[in-house]
Amino acid sequence: MFPAAGFDSAPESGGIFLYRFHMKVYGCQMNVYDSDRVRTALTRRGWTESAEDEADMVIFTGCSVRGKAEQKVWSELGRYASLWEKNRRPRVALTGCAAQSLGEKAFSRYPWVRLVSGPRHIGLLPDGLERVMRDGGRVTLLDEDPREFYSLDEFSEVRGSRYRGYVTIAHGCDNFCTYCIVPHVRGRFVSRPPAEILREVRSLTESGAKEVTLLGQNVNSYGSDFESGYGFAELLRDVARLEGVELVRFVTSLPQDFTEKIARVMAEEPAVCPSLNLPIQSGSDRILRLMNRKYTRAAYMETVRMARSLLPELGLTSDLIVGFPGETERDFEDSLSALSEIRFDLVHTAAYSERAGTPAASMPGALPREVRMERLSRVNALQDKLTLSINQGLVGRRCRVLAEGAAPKGSSDLLQGRTPTDKVVLFPGGKDAADLPGRFVTVEIAEAESWCLKGRLIDPEHCA
Ligand code: SF4
Repeated sequence: MFPAAGFDSAPESGGIFLYRFHMKVYGCQMNVYDSDRVRTALTRRGWTESAEDEADMVIFTGCSVRGKAEQKVWSELGRYASLWEKNRRPRVALTGCAAQSLGEKAFSRYPWVRLVSGPRHIGLLPDGLERVMRDGGRVTLLDEDPREFYSLDEFSEVRGSRYRGYVTIAHGCDNFCTYCIVPHVRGRFVSRPPAEILREVRSLTESGAKEVTLLGQNVNSYGSDFESGYGFAELLRDVARLEGVELVRFVTSLPQDFTEKIARVMAEEPAVCPSLNLPIQSGSDRILRLMNRKYTRAAYMETVRMARSLLPELGLTSDLIVGFPGETERDFEDSLSALSEIRFDLVHTAAYSERAGTPAASMPGALPREVRMERLSRVNALQDKLTLSINQGLVGRRCRVLAEGAAPKGSSDLLQGRTPTDKVVLFPGGKDAADLPGRFVTVEIAEAESWCLKGRLIDPEHCA
C-alpha cells in the first residue's frame, strides 16, 4: 500500500504503509461513541493515532444540532489552508451529522477535505479513509435514504475512558420536533437487536468498562419497531444483570415515553443509576405545541411525580430552549416557574437558533437576538441558584463513586468521578491517587458549586 503522489510518506512497517490519524470530536456522546469505534477499527487495520501536526488524516466528527456547533466545525476546517498549500497534508475527513449538513459545501470550498460521511455510513468509513489515502481521490458517503444504515461491527475497545463505555441502542428519530435537525441528518428511528447490544456491553466489560451508558435520541422508544414486545424496560434490566456491569446510565428520555415500567426497573436494579435526563424544552403549553412536543406541562409534571415517588434519590436533569419563535414574556415566565416548581439538578439551556430546513426556521414571530440572550441569562441565573442550593444540601452526604481518573484541571492527585445521580465530584486521591482510577470509592461531599461537588475520600473499596 503506497501513499499517493505528492504526499509525505507515512511510516512504513514490513512493506506496508501505516497511516497516522488524528481525531477531533465535537457534539454529543453519540459522536464520541462513533468516533471511538472508528478509532478502534483503524487501529486494528494498522493505523496509528498521532498528534494533529503529525497526522496524514485528520478526522472531524462534527455536530449540527446547533448553528454555533456547525460554525465551529466550519472555522476549524478552514484552518488547514496554509498547511495544505505548504505540504499537501493533512487530508481531512468530515463525519457525523455535520458532514450530512455541510458535506457538499465543504467539498466545494476546501480542497483538503477528501471524505465526507454521514452518520448512517459509519460502516463504510474505514474503507473510505483507506481509499482516500491510497488513491488520493475524494470519497462521498452521504446518507440519502433515511432508513438505510451501514453498521460498523466494531466495539469501542479504544476509548476515552477505560472504565466507562457507551453503546448506541437505537439510531435516528421519528419525532420531528419543529426546531430539531436530528431526524433530517440522522434519519428514521431504528432499534438495534437486543442480542447485538448485549454482546457489545459484554465486550466493553471484558475490556475494563464498569459503567455503561445506553445512548439514543429517545431511548424510551427502544423496541417500538419490534413485534416482540421487548422494549427499553426489558433491555435495561438485561444490561443491568450482565456480569461485570456495575453502573448503567442512559440518555435521552422523551417525557411522553418515560413509563412507570422503566422507572420500576431503575428502582429495582441496583446497577441502574437513579439519574434521568428528561428534556422539558418549555414550560408553556402553547410553545410546546409549536415545538411539536407531544406532552403538556401538566403531563410532564405528572411524569416527574411518578419518577420521584419510585426513586426518592433521583437526580433529574433537563434541557430547555428560550426564545423560540413567538415566545412571549408570559410563555418565558412559564418556563421560569416550571424550573422553580420542579427544581432540576441541572438544566442544559440554549437560546433558540434557527436550523435551516426545520419548520421552526420559517415560523412567524422570530425574536431578536438580544431578547433571546437576555432570556438565556435570566434562566441561567435562576437555574444556577437552584442547582447550587440543591448541591449545598448534599454537603456531608456520602456516596459511592467510580474513580474515573485525574480531574481535567487542578493538582496531580485530584481525581474525578460521578455520583450515582450523575453529578461531577472532585476529590483528592492522596497517596493512593495513582491506584484509584477504575475502583469504587466512598466520597463525602465537603463543598458544593453549581457545576461540581468537591469531596474527600473516606475509604477506597477493594474491588477485584
Ligand atoms: S425527540 Fe425531538 S429533539 Fe429529540 S432528536 Fe427527536 S426530533 Fe430532535
